[in-house]
Amino acid sequence: MSEPTANTLSFSQNVNYQVDQAIAAMDLRSDTAAAIKACSSTIQVTFPVKIRDKIEMFTGWRAVHSTHRLPAKGGIRYAPYASQDEVEALASLMSYKCALMDIPFGGSKGALLIDPGKYSRDELQMITRRFTTELVRKGFLSPSTNVPAPDVGTGQREMAWMADTYKHLFPDDINYQACVTGNPIQHGGIHGRTEATGRGVQYAIQEFFRHSADVKKARLPPGLAGKRIVVQGFGNVGYHATRLLSTEDDVKIIAIIKSEGVLVDENGLNIEALHAHILEHKTMRGFPSASFNENGIKALEMECDILIPAAVEAQITSENADRIQTKLIVEAANGPVTFEADKILCKKGIIIIPDIYANAGGVTVSYFEWIRNLSHIRFGRMQHRHEEMRSREFAHLLEDLTGKCISDDVRKRVIRGASEEDLVNSGLDDTMRSGYQQLSELLNRNDKVQDLRTAGYMIAIEKISRSYLDVGVY
Ligand code: NAD
Repeated sequence: MSEPTANTLSFSQNVNYQVDQAIAAMDLRSDTAAAIKACSSTIQVTFPVKIRDKIEMFTGWRAVHSTHRLPAKGGIRYAPYASQDEVEALASLMSYKCALMDIPFGGSKGALLIDPGKYSRDELQMITRRFTTELVRKGFLSPSTNVPAPDVGTGQREMAWMADTYKHLFPDDINYQACVTGNPIQHGGIHGRTEATGRGVQYAIQEFFRHSADVKKARLPPGLAGKRIVVQGFGNVGYHATRLLSTEDDVKIIAIIKSEGVLVDENGLNIEALHAHILEHKTMRGFPSASFNENGIKALEMECDILIPAAVEAQITSENADRIQTKLIVEAANGPVTFEADKILCKKGIIIIPDIYANAGGVTVSYFEWIRNLSHIRFGRMQHRHEEMRSREFAHLLEDLTGKCISDDVRKRVIRGASEEDLVNSGLDDTMRSGYQQLSELLNRNDKVQDLRTAGYMIAIEKISRSYLDVGVY
């Protein structure tokens, strides 16, 4: 592709220009590159549902970008702005993300063109079940080929309706719960999935701060504690990321931006209190000891240490990139920085931790959940008590050898066997650490690589191309 001239690139053009930049720094055949970039298939479905005595037509899409690994994996969003281009761009991001993070899935994404706020719970259930039936019948949803997860506007509830619809269509499939991830805990969900993307963002930032040379490049003082953070989006990803960072890493969340505006408190917002306030009042307005302003998008330009866009795509563009004052951007959302904005930010020396790494916590724990539902057993169930017994014996042995008593408090902590959530978080932490280590290693080793995003795409494309070269194309 030649360089863009206008400021109006579509989402998939933005992704493809970024991918081209990575390909240009690689030794890759152009036909292999073209095969990797192409979106394998997309369906559009249009279906009727009777709502309040009137037939309404709904349109949705599911795109499969790559099937070099199966199943293809990716969320389903419900949004009034959804489009085929957006779905295809998001599906391609899933392919690169899974390859980068060594998650053995292809890339997919889906969307329904709907404003979910306009429908009751029962209506949404009818619409979701009908949408699922369309996807299943057309071969775009099953445990072995294509597995959705929650995204913008969807959650556990929609996943449970989808799995139940699939189960009714295929009553003999004992793996039906693995046809989606992000299930409710009592219906095949895994502990830690709901907050996994936000926790992954936290682990990504922690790992960045363990790389002192990278921290120095970002012109940030060492250590995460005390850092001032601005976050856009307070949904699943934004809420959990801010909750975990503020309670476990001692950072200050100085501003939260939502569609209605921005809430600012230089002393650091109390995230749990804000969450409770929003649940009660359905708005951030009126939250005590913080100032509210309707101009949310302007707040992306606030001076801060870390900016976390966790809402939707194309929020930092060539229009506002020059005014961004942060040192580090962590892309919790998919595609929040456009291709042209990315160039401006890089020139300004702002470090960007890219989406294909930063928000990979969701698909990582989805992978764990999918495996759990295919093996039909909770992680740790066989080992839990055995581990406790071995640790108890070890503690006794230590006491015998030293003649000293271990305090009750320490004994409790030492002998406790790992819960499913402990194992999930440990697997997530490990995956996020090794993901960043790959990025940083390539960036600091290869002169052709100028930023973490290019490094991420290069690593992902290299891995996908290897699977094409090993297996061939037919
Ligand atoms: P969500 O629907 O739970 O929350 C979205 C939030 O963004 C809401 O607070 C909403 O008010 C806010 N928002 C929407 N448009 C906005 C705008 N124009 N300006 C300011 N705020 C706006 O969605 P989510 O699941 O938290 O997803 C957020 C982003 O993270 C998306 O890009 C999604 O693709 C990505 N993501 C989500 C997951 C996941 O597990 N949910 C995984 C990976 C990536």
